[in-house]
Amino acid sequence: MSSMLQPQIILLKEGTDTSQGKPQLVSNINACTAVADVVRTTLGPRGMDKLIHDDKGSVTISNDGATIMKLLDIVHPAAKILVDIAKSQDSEVGDGTTTVVLLAAEFLREAKPFIEDGVHSQNLIRSYRTAGSLAIEKVKELAVSIEGKSLEEKKSLLGKCAATTLSSKLIGGEKEFFASMVVDAVIAIGTDDRLNMIGIKKVPGGNMRDSFLVNGVAFKKTFSYAGFEQQPKKFLDPKILLLNVELELKSEKENAEIRLSDPSQYQSIVDAEWNIIYDKLDKCVQSGAKVVLSRLAIGDLATQYFADRDIFCAGRVAEEDLKRVAAATGGTVQTSVNNIIDEVLGTCEIFEEKQVGNERFNIFNGCPSGQTATIVLRGGADQFIEEAERSLHDAIMIVRRAMKNSTVVAGGGAIDMEISRYLRQHARTIAGKSQLFINSYAKALEVIPRQLCDNAGFDATDVLNKLRQKHALPSGEGAPFGVDIATGGIADSFANFVWEPAVVKINAINAATEAACLVLSVDETVKNPKSESAQGEAAASAMGGRGRGGGFRGRGRGMRR
Ligand code: ADP
Ligand code: MG
Repeated sequence: MSSMLQPQIILLKEGTDTSQGKPQLVSNINACTAVADVVRTTLGPRGMDKLIHDDKGSVTISNDGATIMKLLDIVHPAAKILVDIAKSQDSEVGDGTTTVVLLAAEFLREAKPFIEDGVHSQNLIRSYRTAGSLAIEKVKELAVSIEGKSLEEKKSLLGKCAATTLSSKLIGGEKEFFASMVVDAVIAIGTDDRLNMIGIKKVPGGNMRDSFLVNGVAFKKTFSYAGFEQQPKKFLDPKILLLNVELELKSEKENAEIRLSDPSQYQSIVDAEWNIIYDKLDKCVQSGAKVVLSRLAIGDLATQYFADRDIFCAGRVAEEDLKRVAAATGGTVQTSVNNIIDEVLGTCEIFEEKQVGNERFNIFNGCPSGQTATIVLRGGADQFIEEAERSLHDAIMIVRRAMKNSTVVAGGGAIDMEISRYLRQHARTIAGKSQLFINSYAKALEVIPRQLCDNAGFDATDVLNKLRQKHALPSGEGAPFGVDIATGGIADSFANFVWEPAVVKINAINAATEAACLVLSVDETVKNPKSESAQGEAAASAMGGRGRGGGFRGRGRGMRR
């Protein structure tokens, strides 16, 4: 009896989450499911959007899984894993972010009854890993290559991929219009890995259809001085001079203190400065350039000087834009106006200053090195354009991936159903508990077609039964069948060009399986209340003297003060 009253060793501080093992696992799974429930309804072409507003009052409307997950202020440590996989899916492949979260949560949900029944999570993890690699092999096997097609054919195929991505977005109504724009932009930049070579400029107002693609660079007209109006606004095949030089009269005579003995010397100082700037301007003109851009200011004197010589100029061009102009026109940015040789000048087919909505844009079209493209986006509200930009980003990423890897699989839940069938079939050949776990994994994959149906308002059970039956056909002809968003039945997704790049699916399955296994491998969360916040820090140090440092305490773990 007396031994029971012995003080126990306190390992963890007061306030540490002490649930361990099964309850901890179950609570982590519940948290992950709750997170997935937030993005669940955004999946697919009929998915809904989420409006998220924060304390600062900024409002975001989005359908993109990664964007929503990022904006949700998730504090649960296990649920945070889902945020991470959504982010990584976004940066690795750019699409499939909702899919990856849904899959991970569904794997966990399927695992929950087993955990509750006392199955050791390591057994589940092992089976899930096996199932994951089998699934990925199957995707690779089913993927169809679009390699070796002519450019025209490839373009239309890539367009289909982009359209599938866009169909679930706010701009889905104009998906063909934007898909071909995206494909043209991606083909324009070729193999260049720098994504920022595709610029997206947002101009509020107008109609979505007024958006257009510039085969080169476009940027908003910069601040301009008097004399600008007299400059010509359109050139064919102009030479373009890019500078990182200030072309402005600085009036140093007012800033500096100069001692003169003779008043006539004053004029020479004023003249000196004028001579310097005129010298610079002369050199610019002599270079033969018709368009002069500078990252730094181009003042009123220079503007007028150029206007008199039929030259267009723009100062304070954003660095990124100037870089893109340089890449597109083949010019090099100069830091001095001395020795401007022909090689450093860029050129393009048409330079033009054009009105777009309420803004004026400088547009460089038909650039020789063609490594850049700019999409000028139009549309009503700011939030709308923001979301349109994010959607285009998804589509651009997809087309780039498809160009690089050039294999696609049938979308609309077809590939998921097919893997599910394959895994179930495979499970039958396994003896032991593992069969059940792999079956659960297979069942979890059905969440994609089920959610697509739910979001579109179809009878998911009915559609899924039809799909299962179709995919079970021994001939294998049912493999490309997925949810038909138009009618609420099932249709050949492949024939209907509902395609997804294979990498998106492979990455999603991989990441979701890993995340599920990770959550399942955690049986205790150790939280250090001290490191939680600075506040906790202060509180802890205030209690400094009392009872700290002593390893023994007369109370058991978990007892409240
Ligand atoms: P994610 O963020 O995962 O990409 P989406 O909202 O873009 O989520 O939805 C993608 C899912 O919608 C994919 O499974 C895709 O196959 C499916 N999908 C897209 N377009 C169609 C369509 N026209 N018909 C049926 N399914 C579609
Ligand atoms: Mg998508």
